[in-house]
Amino acid sequence: MAEAIATLCPHCGRRNKLTGSPASHDQAHCLQCHKRLFPDRALALDDDELRQFLRHDQLPLLLDFWAPGCRPCKMLMPLLDQAARKYAGALRVIKINTAEFPTTIKKHRIRAVPTLLLLRKGKELDRVTGALDAARLERWLNKTL
Ligand SMILES: [Zn+2]
Repeated sequence: MAEAIATLCPHCGRRNKLTGSPASHDQAHCLQCHKRLFPDRALALDDDELRQFLRHDQLPLLLDFWAPGCRPCKMLMPLLDQAARKYAGALRVIKINTAEFPTTIKKHRIRAVPTLLLLRKGKELDRVTGALDAARLERWLNKTL
């Protein structure tokens, strides 16, 4: 049997364990607040929530670094919501407004927007800077995950 994977509830922050096949996780609910562990869109977190996810969530994290007024960033957003649905249970998709998270940007050496960064347990798997269409995003995720 596959090992249990710890993931955080985006609503209440409670640590939940996922067991069994990833396909069964997309509809999983939080043990504490009973809301869906994988909402239909990319997560927008505050500073503290982001720290918790980076530290404790064992799923791969797709971080989208964006900035207000950046057109390619805006075009990417619906694709990221789509990815959150499509990869529910296997991937966390998190939007990070670069105007609000200077420490995180520095830590991950983000120099341009949009930048997509894939992390697993704190380790960088890969990153892409610049606009992407749906097909390229999916190819990149399938190749990297
Ligand atoms: Zn919860």
